[in-house]
Amino acid sequence: MLAQVYRRARAYFSVPSAHEEPDIIAAQYEVFSRQIPLMYSVLLINAWILVSTFFGDAPWWLTVLCPVVFTLISFKRLVGWWRGRGSQPSVEVARKNLIGTNRVALAMALFLVAWSISLYHYGNVAQQSHIAFFMAVTGVCVVICLMHLRSAAFIVWLVICSGFFVHYLSAEEASFVAMAINMPFVTMAVLLMVHVQANHFSNSVAARSRMEAVSHENLRLANTDNLTGLPNRRMFFAELGRAMRTAPEANKRVAAAVIDMDGFKSVNDLYGHAAGDEVLIEVGQRLRRVAKDKVLVSRLGGDEFAILVEDESSDAALLRLGKEMCAKLSAPFDLGDTTVTLSASIGFAVHPDVAQCPRTLYERADYAHYDCKRHRRGTAALFSKEQISEIKSSKRIETVLRSADHAMEIFPYFQPIVDVSSGRLIAFEALSRWESPELGCVAPGSFIGIAERIGLIGAITHISLKKALEAVENWPEDICLSFNLSAHEISSSDALGQIMAIVRESPIDPRRIDFEITETAVMADMMRAETSVRALRKMGCGVALDDFGTGYSSLTQLHSLALTKIKVDRSFITKIESTTASFKIVKSLLTLSKDMGLSCVVEGVESEVERAVVEQLGGTLIQGYYFSKPLTEAAALEFLQDYNFGSRELVA
Ligand code: C2E
Ligand code: MG
Ligand code: MG
Repeated sequence: MLAQVYRRARAYFSVPSAHEEPDIIAAQYEVFSRQIPLMYSVLLINAWILVSTFFGDAPWWLTVLCPVVFTLISFKRLVGWWRGRGSQPSVEVARKNLIGTNRVALAMALFLVAWSISLYHYGNVAQQSHIAFFMAVTGVCVVICLMHLRSAAFIVWLVICSGFFVHYLSAEEASFVAMAINMPFVTMAVLLMVHVQANHFSNSVAARSRMEAVSHENLRLANTDNLTGLPNRRMFFAELGRAMRTAPEANKRVAAAVIDMDGFKSVNDLYGHAAGDEVLIEVGQRLRRVAKDKVLVSRLGGDEFAILVEDESSDAALLRLGKEMCAKLSAPFDLGDTTVTLSASIGFAVHPDVAQCPRTLYERADYAHYDCKRHRRGTAALFSKEQISEIKSSKRIETVLRSADHAMEIFPYFQPIVDVSSGRLIAFEALSRWESPELGCVAPGSFIGIAERIGLIGAITHISLKKALEAVENWPEDICLSFNLSAHEISSSDALGQIMAIVRESPIDPRRIDFEITETAVMADMMRAETSVRALRKMGCGVALDDFGTGYSSLTQLHSLALTKIKVDRSFITKIESTTASFKIVKSLLTLSKDMGLSCVVEGVESEVERAVVEQLGGTLIQGYYFSKPLTEAAALEFLQDYNFGSRELVA
């Protein structure tokens, strides 16, 4: 009990501990520091005015030495305050200073009490009243200045009041005795006031700290992606803006990169969203491990990540970083009972080289990333100045395409597909062309992607398909049509329904139609692709996987699609004679298609040598400039007549 009272009483005279109440210590230090000049000014003025009434009456050591020593000490404290003003010491240092203040307060209070009481015997009643006035007024002023530092205020007041009480109680003057009796009451009131004020101060500091913590947490949450714990889109753009604002002064380059995982959607579709989340978390961790200082990794949403590189890295260093990230992200992801392997495409853009504002820098990095995804999946690339004119030209294509008369300007060309085992032309692939009055003949590679992006692909596909089916009506019954579908058609049941309706409305037997879909479109939404392929097959159409070998899909995934054919990409044929790897790839693709019971068309055969190599490897269905470039409807018909029914010798 006694120990408890002692502990509580002690708490009133000491500074709180640094871990328990760091905010209170910091706040006490701040408020008290502001009061120091006022407090010492009052002390010095009061002391010197008291001295002035005792000059000549009291000995020199009381009227000169003591006040001078006191003044010097006060000045020393004031100089210390002046030097340290504006600085924000750590909580430990602030606490040390406050403990020091308690000690100084005790020493000064004892000194002032001893000094003023020593003057007492040298003065008359009026002078003695001045001493009482000095002690009371100085005490009150100091306590007000120390109000937020409860311990020091208590020490000063108790020392002054005890001195006052003991001294004046034994005085001869009755009014002095009355003042002494009055003092304990005043003391209680003052101590209570200090106590209430100090509590109020601590409560408001605690409330402010709580609010600061909440708003700090809100800020953190607002800037953090809650799945991966990485900075989010908002923080990324804020940091990008800051980095670009400060870059010119520091003469630095700032690079932004956009990263996404190729084929990520199929992880969600095949293994569920929890597995997808696991992959994203792991992607974030791998990126973070590769990222060094001054590289901010953030998740923008979905499987889109971004990085901000803030130093003077050369293009080569950025590409090295990108390559390292691609390599790390291409390692298998462990999903407990299975593993998945994905790839990442990364596009960088650098300020000030190719963009002056954050939005443009991001858009250009995104463009570089998109370009990578289309042409060099699983790699990193840098946005180049040449791509600025590419963007301009694609903007122009977009504008003209929007207002074009699609029904008039878009039509299919036809490229023959030959079965070299029988020496007969068996099908044509329809390849759309846009004959624009403003832009001339535009290749599909330049407008299909744009049409997909701006939502015109549906209309264009319908026009091209209807025209192609009309052309088929003039072909012999055994000649088939291959028609390319875009990602839009296989990932939307409505769009696919419209394609199927066009086929149903035409007099052509659906078994004469092969729809070609690309691996990229399949991987964008594996589940939907499976359903779409099944629907097309049910109607009787064939389904071919176009550009096979360029993507990263696993064979197990492709096996679940009810395909009828694969088309080996042209890129392997171009290097078939010179590159052993291409030779081996074509060989294994042909074997694979055979094993999977699929027919296989080899695309892009241009020369006799290429044709011979493909034939030697067992490839029988061939398409390419070797036989013919894509032809107009009339020219295709003529070619067909010549090839299958004419005297033209095509197979050497
Ligand atoms: P694809 O379906 O792989 O078509 C083959 C492309 O390779 C065609 O280019 C064709 O002209 C070209 N090609 C064929 N043989 C050779 C050869 O021996 N050497 C060379 N250098 N090239 C050859 P094209 O007509 O420019 O079409 C490009 C791509 O645009 C097509 O690739 C297809 O994916 C897409 N596409 C074309 N028409 C349509 C369409 O109506 N709808 C959709 N969604 N995509 C289409
Ligand atoms: Mg095709
Ligand atoms: Mg192809």
